[in-house]
Amino acid sequence: MARTSMQTEIANHVRRVFRAQYPLPATEVPVNLMAWVDRLDAHLVRARLDGPGFHGAVAEQPASGVVMLVNGIDDFRVQRFTIAHELGHILLHHHRKAQTYWWFETEANTVASEILLPWSYLEHVVRPTIPLDPEGQVRWWAQMGSALARHAAVTESVVAYHLQDLGWLSLPVDEEPVAASALTVTLPAWPAFVPQSDETRGPRLR
Ligand SMILES: [Zn+2]
Repeated sequence: MARTSMQTEIANHVRRVFRAQYPLPATEVPVNLMAWVDRLDAHLVRARLDGPGFHGAVAEQPASGVVMLVNGIDDFRVQRFTIAHELGHILLHHHRKAQTYWWFETEANTVASEILLPWSYLEHVVRPTIPLDPEGQVRWWAQMGSALARHAAVTESVVAYHLQDLGWLSLPVDEEPVAASALTVTLPAWPAFVPQSDETRGPRLR
């Protein structure tokens, strides 16, 4: 994951804005993406889209409203990232802009990872389990990475990139951020997170 400092800066800015505006509860994991699609009045269309690397798109049309196209032949968790990514474009109003810019993709990816891995979940449920020392982190990732990804219904790379961006996890650079999913790890139950008040219920987007 070679990221430029510009991308990191954009991502951190988007994260701050997103977390302030949509304080999602940790209890929402795995996040119900269809609720987001409904809240934003979007229509999800799954189609078989052959061709390399085409995961999805979003467009707004006067007759049909906001339509999100998702490649139905992608893996389930890849489709979830695509949906969250397109939700990001909608929340940021990219689909209404005449031009697109490269940083829109960084912004949408950032929103996607914020939607799929709510900050309160990372902070209260995941962070306390991550060791502080780098060697412990590598072991933690090998043991817990795939379980965590499955629990949140995201791909392992979404979790790995997010935790590395946060500075909570450092993995050797040469190593793919993929947990040893071949190992059948016995999953400890993630501790239930109890929101402090009803304030932490779902976001109101309208
Ligand atoms: Zn995009």
